[in-house]
Amino acid sequence: MHPLDTLKPFFDLHASRIATLSDRIWSLAELRYAESGSAGLHADGLAQAGFRIGQPLAGIPTAFVAEHGEGGPVVGLLGEYDALSGLNQQSGALQCRPSMDSPGPNGHGCGHHLLGAAAHLAALAVQHYLQLNGLPGRIRFYGCPAEEGGSGKTFMARAGVFDDLDAALTWHPASHTAVFDQSTLANIQASFVFKGRAAHAANAPHLGRSALDAVELMNVGVNYLREHMPPNARVHYAVTDSGGLSPNVVQARAEVLYLVRAIDNREASELYQRVCNVARGAALMTGCELELRFDKACSNLLLNDVLNRVMEAQLQHLGPLPVGEPERLLARDHHATLSASDVADAGRSLGAVLRGQGMPALFEGVKPYRGPAEGVMYGSTDVADVSWVTPTAQAWVACYAFGTPFHSWQMVSQGKTSLAHLGMVQAAKVLAGTAIALLTAAPDTLAAARAELRERRAGPYVCPIPAEVPLPWQRG
Ligand SMILES: [Zn+2]
Repeated sequence: MHPLDTLKPFFDLHASRIATLSDRIWSLAELRYAESGSAGLHADGLAQAGFRIGQPLAGIPTAFVAEHGEGGPVVGLLGEYDALSGLNQQSGALQCRPSMDSPGPNGHGCGHHLLGAAAHLAALAVQHYLQLNGLPGRIRFYGCPAEEGGSGKTFMARAGVFDDLDAALTWHPASHTAVFDQSTLANIQASFVFKGRAAHAANAPHLGRSALDAVELMNVGVNYLREHMPPNARVHYAVTDSGGLSPNVVQARAEVLYLVRAIDNREASELYQRVCNVARGAALMTGCELELRFDKACSNLLLNDVLNRVMEAQLQHLGPLPVGEPERLLARDHHATLSASDVADAGRSLGAVLRGQGMPALFEGVKPYRGPAEGVMYGSTDVADVSWVTPTAQAWVACYAFGTPFHSWQMVSQGKTSLAHLGMVQAAKVLAGTAIALLTAAPDTLAAARAELRERRAGPYVCPIPAEVPLPWQRG
C-alpha cells in the first residue's frame, strides 16, 4: 500500500487542527526575526507530539529544530512563518480593505502561515508512519524565521545546522501545483551610509559636505552601471535615510539600502563589488565618508533532479486537488479581482500546460515535471543556501485562485479560506510522501542525490554571508 494511502485517515483526523494553527499564525502576522508567537505555536505542537526540541537554533531566538526518530537517514522539512509589512488585509474580502480581526500593519502576503503549518503536519505524519511500521530514520522540522528580507536560512546554513541532513524538503503556496523546477537568483543586500558635514545651506554651503548628494550620485552611478551588467542581474535600492526634512541644512548623514541579484554567487559578488566602487566614487566626489554595512545574502538555488523525481511521484500519486464546488466558487470570486496582466503572467510561467485551454480560475491539476527547466525564476530564496548544503526539493501547491500574485492583498485575503487549507493539506501529503520515500528508499537514491549535489556545486559551500557579519539584531 502506498504510504499516502496508509496515512489518509491520519491526514483526515488532523487537517482541521492544522488549519486552526495556520489561521492563528495568519492573525499573528509577525515580521522577520520577531516571530516568537508563531515559532512558539509550532515548537509547542511538535513538543506535545513527542519531538525533541532544540531552541534557539543558530543563535536565532525564533529558529528551532524539532526531531523525531532514531538512526537511519535524516530528512529535514523547512517550515516558514514570517509575514510581510504593509499588507494588512481583511480575510476573505474581495477588495483591498484593512483587517478587522488582525489589526496592525502586517499580513501573510506570501502564504508562509500555510508553509510552516503544512511542514508541521507532514512531520507529524512521518512520525506516525515510522512508529506504525517500527522503522528507523529521523524526521526534522526546522522552524525557519525571516525568509522575507532576512535570509534566516542562510544564517542557519552558515551555523551548520543543515550539515548532517541527507535531504531537505519544502514547498511554497502558489496558484498552481508543480515540482519547483527553476533556479533562483543569488543576492546580496547592503547599506551604504554616507557621512558628510552639516552647514547652513544658504549662509555657509561651502562648509557643508552633503551626504544626500552622495546618495544621489551613487544612485545615478548605479543606474549607468545597469547597461553594463549581466543580462540576468537585477539591482534595486531604497533610500532609507535622506538626511532630514530641512532643505536649509546640508544633510550630514544619508543612507541607501541596495539589493544586488545575479545568476549565481560569483556574479552577485562581482556586481556587488562594482556597486561598492560606485559608492566609493560618490563619497570621493562629495567629500563624504562611506560606511559599508553588509546586511545579508543568499545563494542561487541548486536543483536536485533525483529528489525532484521522488517528489513528482507523490504529486502524481495524489493527482488533482480534491476541491469541491465551494472552492471553485471561491476561486472564481477572487480570480475576478485580479488584473488581466497578473493572470497572463501566471499563464506564461506554465507555458504549454495551459495551451488552448484559456486561463482557469483555479488550477486543479499538476504541471508535469520534465527535469530542471531552462532559465531562472526572477526572485531569490534562502532555501537556496540549504540546497548548497544538502540535496533539496520543493513543490508549488495551489492554495489560491489562479494568477494570484505573491505579496498582494489578494494573497492575504485568501489565506484562511477552505481552498488555502486544502492546498496546505495537499502540500503536507507531498512532503510526507517524499520524506517517507527517501527514509525507506534503498541507500543509492540518497547517494545519487548527494552525488548530483556535489556535481552541481563543483566545490565546497561558501556561505555568501561572511563569517564576521553579525546577526541582524546584534548590530550596533
Ligand atoms: Zn514566500
